[in-house]
Amino acid sequence: MSFSKKTLLVAMLCATTAQAHNKPRFFEQIKQAFNDGCKAASACPGDTPTHPTVEALGMEAQQKVGVEKPLPIFSMNPHHPMTLFAGAMTDRHGIHVSPQLLLVSYGVARSTMHHEAIHAREHDYQNIIHKVTVGTAAGALAGYATCRKLNRSKRILGVLTGAYLMNIITRQVINQTVEARADREGFKATDCGPCMEEMAANREMLEVSPIFNPFKYFGYVSSKEVAQIAQELKGKTCAHHATPEKQAEAKYNSAVMKDWCVQERTRQNDLAELQAAEHAVTEKEEQCMRRFQ
Ligand SMILES: [Zn+2]
Ligand SMILES: [Zn+2]
Repeated sequence: MSFSKKTLLVAMLCATTAQAHNKPRFFEQIKQAFNDGCKAASACPGDTPTHPTVEALGMEAQQKVGVEKPLPIFSMNPHHPMTLFAGAMTDRHGIHVSPQLLLVSYGVARSTMHHEAIHAREHDYQNIIHKVTVGTAAGALAGYATCRKLNRSKRILGVLTGAYLMNIITRQVINQTVEARADREGFKATDCGPCMEEMAANREMLEVSPIFNPFKYFGYVSSKEVAQIAQELKGKTCAHHATPEKQAEAKYNSAVMKDWCVQERTRQNDLAELQAAEHAVTEKEEQCMRRFQ
């Protein structure tokens, strides 16, 4: 060992001993550093208090769907990728809500909280982790069994491929069931037609938008099915939508979202036509060039 390495080792030992004097603080600091790292890497869903209205919606939803031990409601870490989807996510610590959620509309926020409340009631987050771990391990074993007679590097590759594939497959299969259940049971539990009308329009935006489009393959039910639930709940309202004014507001919000869908569909069609026309022109030009060559 060279001198500089020895010096470094001694310095590290001294630092650790000095830190160990104050153990609780030492571990607290490590935990803090880890949390900060997670937050910077967008891995932490966030644990700061949220808007009082969202908080109340989260508590109402959990009570309505029958969560035994209601989870606290947090504001989502603004760096977390889920904030892009103006939604929420539930883990064992709590329900983490995107700061933009209330901006969409009251009905969308309320419906989303009911969806999350089902995740909380069914402990979906923990179940997903357990099942994906088992699936990944099974994939690794299958990979090993398939490649056990090959050389070492191919065996490692087999194990990694098996684990990776099974991780994706288990995740996808579980997501399909878990998200569809949270949507169906959560939305019915809202007991409010106007809330569901807004949610149906919002879901249509998700289907039309090229950015959010892949999300419809994650098991979320279609806008048509949400509209069906809205129809079933017609005449029923939550406390917020009890007055004719608030019901008219929900209709207006839904109309604005649906209008966006119409505009977006037109834009996408125009773009496709434009690209087809440009393609035809390029083809013509290439034909001409070939004739002159
Ligand atoms: Zn969900
Ligand atoms: Zn409502």
